[in-house]
Amino acid sequence: MKVLKFGGSSVANAANMNKVIEIVQESIQKDKTVLVVSALGGVTDALLQAGAQASVGNDAYKEALKELEQKHLDTVRALLPIQQQSATLSLVKQHFNELENICDGVSLLRELSGRTKDRIVSFGELLSSLIISAKLQTLHADLQWVDARQLVVTDSAFGNAAVDFEATNENIAAYFRANQHQLYVVPGFIAADQQKNTTTVGRGGSDYTGAIFAAALNAAVLEIWTDVSGMMTADPRVVQNAKPINHISYQEAMELSHFGAKIIYPPTIQPVMSRNIPVWVKNTFAPKAYGTLIEQVLTANGNDFIRGISSINNIALLSLEGTGMVGVPGFSKRLFEALANEQVNVILITQSSSEHSICVAINDANAIVAKRSIDQAFNHELRSGLLEPVKVEQGLSVVAVVGEKMKSQPGVSGKMFGALGRNGINVRAIAQGSSEKNISAVLSSADVKKAINVLHEEFFETTYKQLNLFIAGTGNVGGKLLAQIHKQLVYLKDQLRLQIHVTGLANSKKILFNEDGIDLENWKVLLADAAPGSIHDFVKRIREKNLRNSVFVDVTANEEVAGVYEQLLEKSVAVVACNKIAASSSYERYLHLKSLSRQYNAPFLFETNVGAGLPVIGTLNDLLRSGDQVNRIQAVLSGTLNFVFNHYNGTKSFASVVRQAQEEGYTEPDPRLDLGGTDVMRKIMILAREAGQQLEMKDITNNAFLPASCFNGSVEDFYNEMEKQEPHFKALYNEAASRNCKLKFVASYEHGKAAVGLQHIPAESDFYHLYGKDNLVLFFTERYPEQPLVIKGAGAGADVTASGVFADMIRAGRV
Ligand code: ADP
Ligand code: ASP
Ligand code: MG
Repeated sequence: MKVLKFGGSSVANAANMNKVIEIVQESIQKDKTVLVVSALGGVTDALLQAGAQASVGNDAYKEALKELEQKHLDTVRALLPIQQQSATLSLVKQHFNELENICDGVSLLRELSGRTKDRIVSFGELLSSLIISAKLQTLHADLQWVDARQLVVTDSAFGNAAVDFEATNENIAAYFRANQHQLYVVPGFIAADQQKNTTTVGRGGSDYTGAIFAAALNAAVLEIWTDVSGMMTADPRVVQNAKPINHISYQEAMELSHFGAKIIYPPTIQPVMSRNIPVWVKNTFAPKAYGTLIEQVLTANGNDFIRGISSINNIALLSLEGTGMVGVPGFSKRLFEALANEQVNVILITQSSSEHSICVAINDANAIVAKRSIDQAFNHELRSGLLEPVKVEQGLSVVAVVGEKMKSQPGVSGKMFGALGRNGINVRAIAQGSSEKNISAVLSSADVKKAINVLHEEFFETTYKQLNLFIAGTGNVGGKLLAQIHKQLVYLKDQLRLQIHVTGLANSKKILFNEDGIDLENWKVLLADAAPGSIHDFVKRIREKNLRNSVFVDVTANEEVAGVYEQLLEKSVAVVACNKIAASSSYERYLHLKSLSRQYNAPFLFETNVGAGLPVIGTLNDLLRSGDQVNRIQAVLSGTLNFVFNHYNGTKSFASVVRQAQEEGYTEPDPRLDLGGTDVMRKIMILAREAGQQLEMKDITNNAFLPASCFNGSVEDFYNEMEKQEPHFKALYNEAASRNCKLKFVASYEHGKAAVGLQHIPAESDFYHLYGKDNLVLFFTERYPEQPLVIKGAGAGADVTASGVFADMIRAGRV
């Protein structure tokens, strides 16, 4: 004997029912079979809603019942041959007449008892089982439709009735002794109490009906046919890369389902486990897929010590605290009695070893009753101040990692909480059963999706880690960066196991999101068609999305964009910036950003702030981390100024050389930031700060060469003014040339002081042979006292800057 149970989606319509029929036909060729079915998908919810509407006198229930009737009639018409439809059509109509009468009664009385509710929902399973029986009959199967209410006996706790196994097993055994058919069709979910009132065994309870029959008949197997290929490592609706678990123990399956894996109704396992009947979870829509075999002994799955991750939402945490609890026996007994009296189910318990507090997680819906009941039970202690009133926190979820083997594996909880911590997920309470089959954590519901994905990646995705990038700025550098990412996607996945998603993209006008990753072939068109939005909208959405491994990339030079980093870091979103404004803002803000980065485990990286793609800041950090000390820095840090002074020799005007630099993309959007020395001041300040020096812009001496008149007006005014000032620039050049020197704009830092300015560079200087837009940095340190550590190369340009940003991004993602 085999028991096959098909869920709501498997019997949702005629097309799906035909798939069920195929599977059933194959089964009855080999074995006697009990077929248990759920209501057509969505029907149970619809019936409950209709009942609720009727009970408040809302006539919408009539229309709802009409629609439901039509759905069932349509199914019959599509499923059965025309000549054989009429009996079943009238059976359906008959049932709906009865159902309508009941609902009319509810509407009239404005009263919906648990008993009536169960009557109403029972029609779902009655109808589905009758329709599928009719179809099987047309195929000449030797079958009998069995009213589960005649066999499954429960108490009268309507909605969630408890099964009387003794009576039920006896009934089923007797019935099957008296009948000899190849196939029995049974409506799931429904049963009856001693008085023959219809009851139901809890939402999702058709699985349980299957298990009850399997156990009573000592079936060879209970097959649960559903819409996914087995129990998965996590809910596939939450985790894209969830994988089917081929083999799992009863204990683990029970643990996963108790902690929210909806795929199996939790009480289902117990009856089959006690008879050692294997449960096979299979996919109606992919019957060839192996699915999940739930058995006593763990056979396969290698050395995985975690089997799956599940979660329960709508959790409230109650904490009872006070000195009155310490060392007093019977305290928890009274607490749990108070909860039991109100039939409140306890999902998780933690007690601190000081016995100063005890915490229980329960369903949100019970929070108020539970608090009242506990406060009442401890009335005396509350009044005398030995205890504080129960604290209730809502909006929480429980996430559990489950695996029988983890008891022999140290470090699982370390790994779990490490991963959560790195992603800024705050854990409110923790429980690990003494059997060590699961570790569960209570956390904010807002973090639950992220937490499950983080944990899944940590424990199951040995293949790759997903990085979610949010890029602000699609100008010169942004454009190059996107092209570089596009080109490297495959390499990063293959070589670094990083799966890069550009999840968000923003320019100054539009914002675009796609959690599956924006198509980088088409980003321009997609962004042009995207919704308008500011940087603040962009950040708001990033925070709301709350995705794991998020990296915000600022490839703008914009002050407003630089102003949002705090909001991101405090949500554990890493920040990578080529924008220098934040790192060169007040020292206080610089420090604050660094400390947020540490506090929330979110890297804040800005390598390209100095020397574009050259490894300047990283090298400096490495020197300091390894114990070196910086005594002096000498540097040419402006690609723009270097380009300008390398190209200017008085033949073409100074203004036109500057314009050329701007056109070639080496300058800041406002070239005065380069020409006036501000950009170089920022850079040397950032280096000094990274070397450990507290420094502000006002502390830096700027020996500027640009006449003050150049700073008035727009960028165009600036060019015009420079033309007028050509003699000034010519004089600067001639003076240097007369001494066989070149002009370089040099930044220096020594003894805590920094200065920038134009210098005459003689031929013997390191800076003399510095061409094009190159930068040069000399670090004089304890370990490099005379011969400095030298970093030299192109210090401007979109391509090299983008590649520096890219490297930072990868660094941030691999933390
Ligand atoms: P049925 O109607 O067949 O009883 P359910 O909707 O009750 O089906 O259960 C199947 C659904 O359970 C899947 O579609 C899936 O979305 C959800 N689910 C939640 N957790 C898991 C998990 N760990 N593995 C597989 N499915 C899961
Ligand atoms: N139809 C019932 C429900 O939706 C039982 C089941 O599908 O298992 O809860
Ligand atoms: Mg189900």
